[in-house]
Amino acid sequence: MNKSLILVVEDDSSVLNLMSTTLKLHKYRYITANNGEGAILAASSHNPDIILLDLGLPDIDGVQVIQKIRTWSNVPIIIISARSEESDKIEALDTGADDYLTKPFSVEELLARIRVTERRMTYMKNDIDTSSVFVNGELRIDYVAGCAYMGEQELHLTPIEYKLICLLSQNVGKVLTYNYITQKIWGRSWDNDIASLRVFMATLRKKIEDNSECPQYIQTHIGIGYRMLKV
Ligand code: CA
Repeated sequence: MNKSLILVVEDDSSVLNLMSTTLKLHKYRYITANNGEGAILAASSHNPDIILLDLGLPDIDGVQVIQKIRTWSNVPIIIISARSEESDKIEALDTGADDYLTKPFSVEELLARIRVTERRMTYMKNDIDTSSVFVNGELRIDYVAGCAYMGEQELHLTPIEYKLICLLSQNVGKVLTYNYITQKIWGRSWDNDIASLRVFMATLRKKIEDNSECPQYIQTHIGIGYRMLKV
């Protein structure tokens, strides 16, 4: 399989250099843009497999770039943000970004995020479209029957826990914000709902994780949301 074509959007030339050198070293094909308009143009003309997008750009902000690209493409977008852009990060995830990296990040971290995204894409292509059964490690969800299993054991989930695990599984590998999850589950997002979500997540984890201190399936992103990992 050809290595993915990656669009790197970053206005800070030292960060851009670091990222392109890393990608080159690992035999990725890449193109670059140093502002938002350039990013939109490159995304539409080169059709990249993954976009690495800095949120703080000199012309238009990263969230607008995502909104624009999402009008025609589902290409995975990994946002890159400074710590001071925490609320922008959440907005970007809600707008349709798939994952994030916080500056400063290590080269290993960058490569790991790219691999997670690639695995998710392959998985989506091969399994999700054609199958009504989701399998991830020991976890199996039969969407048609409305049942979930851990190994041979059927899980006894409440309706909310079941909705929650389905939502996470349908977005495996992707970070879902509290806001997104509560909207999908309760159709609204109040502070109360986020508190309830934490409670449901704790009970769900007790049922699916061997060790809820060190979860294998559902990762917590403090202050942001949750992600189901591809085991
Ligand atoms: Ca920047």
